[in-house]
Amino acid sequence: AQSMGVNRSTLVTALENLAAAGMIEGRHGGGTYVCGSGWHALAHGALPNWEEAIEEGWYYPNLPEVQQINRAEFQPGIIRLGTGELAPELMPQKAFNDILHALSSRSRTLNYLEPQGSLELRQALSVYLQASGIQASPDSILIVSGSLQALHLISVGLLPRGSAVLLEKPSYLYSIHAFQSAGLKMSGIPMDAEGLHIPRLEDAVQNNTNKDSISLLYTIPSFHNPTGSVMSDSRREELLATARNTGISLLEDAAYTDLWLDEPPPPSLKARDKEGRVLHMGTLSKAVSPGLRLGWLVGPEPVIRRLADIKMQTDYGTSSLAQEAAALWFADGYHEQHMDRLRPELRRRRDLMLDLLQRDFGEFAEWSVPAGGFYIWLRFTVDPLSIRELFHACLENHVLIHPGYLYDRLDAEHIRLSYAYASPDEMEHGLHLLAQAVKKLMA
Ligand code: PMP
Repeated sequence: AQSMGVNRSTLVTALENLAAAGMIEGRHGGGTYVCGSGWHALAHGALPNWEEAIEEGWYYPNLPEVQQINRAEFQPGIIRLGTGELAPELMPQKAFNDILHALSSRSRTLNYLEPQGSLELRQALSVYLQASGIQASPDSILIVSGSLQALHLISVGLLPRGSAVLLEKPSYLYSIHAFQSAGLKMSGIPMDAEGLHIPRLEDAVQNNTNKDSISLLYTIPSFHNPTGSVMSDSRREELLATARNTGISLLEDAAYTDLWLDEPPPPSLKARDKEGRVLHMGTLSKAVSPGLRLGWLVGPEPVIRRLADIKMQTDYGTSSLAQEAAALWFADGYHEQHMDRLRPELRRRRDLMLDLLQRDFGEFAEWSVPAGGFYIWLRFTVDPLSIRELFHACLENHVLIHPGYLYDRLDAEHIRLSYAYASPDEMEHGLHLLAQAVKKLMA
């Protein structure tokens, strides 16, 4: 107290006030402890209570089911019916070996790269984005370590704390955690067959007690996670018009856009954006490789520079090797070749899953028919069926499913299925076990 220039009586009064507020407690002969904290900050020499201390950090923990999924995915013999990534055999193994071979004879910088990421990669991305109608100069692109990082950077570097983010209900699980953990409020907007429901969006804006506090609308217009739906062309136009009228900016997540199976989705929101209202994020994770940890964010240059500065302070940039590989991937035509090969295989797996559902699930469920991406959003039409119990029953049988309540806490009737990971044999066996588990719970 002396070194801080605070006299003893001030300190005693402060401690009394904290004790009266129930924030600290004195332990006889054992010093003073901060209540409910594993850190025992005021005790001399005490070891933190680690079990309690891990509750203190501000980042939201995963639900127990997600933690179980994240562990179980690596157990041998598990059938992954919900996993949001390509099976290893669908990944471009040979192309990456060729790319790494080509890179092995190049001289390279082993230093940190510039804050926005490798210029060579941003130039290649600029050309790639141009092909889908997005005008993005290299200066308006930030390379990120997977697009989830773009959500984090935006949450902490761009959005006022306490402001509101609108998003589809349900939505991508970790976007919800990123926004929540950054102290943002969220408002879920329902969807219909054409995407975000515009009147409900307008209601959400009108009914917000503090309209100015809405900062951004986060949307996944093409092959949505978890519903698989595509926002129609006219809905995209309506959304942009509503954004203009209400002054809301948009964050478009294009993670699944290249994974169309029947026909390409309508042009992106960013491709239609004449005024610079749309931030656009993409990733190699879904169509190519999630392990590479490579994504990008396109936006107005001041935004990109600000977020690049935070990225520098966060991780000094995405791995330069991953960036070099990605630059060749786009510049040398590997991407288109891979997509041409991947689409028929993914289409076969989607059609197989739909056939199997038709065969075994018709009496107790209904589902969407996705035109691309990975996901089938399956709704159980029987009542009551506990999705939590179903999840655990499946796990006991070594089958992993993703409960709908991971994507919307109030959802009680959906699961997310994915046709991207399980092999055709596993899919058949896994869905059979799932149907059996449902029937057992219904009985
Ligand atoms: N957006 C969506 C909609 C996703 O589903 C995912 C991955 N599940 C991501 C972003 C983030 O992926 P990554 O960080 O690997 O790019």
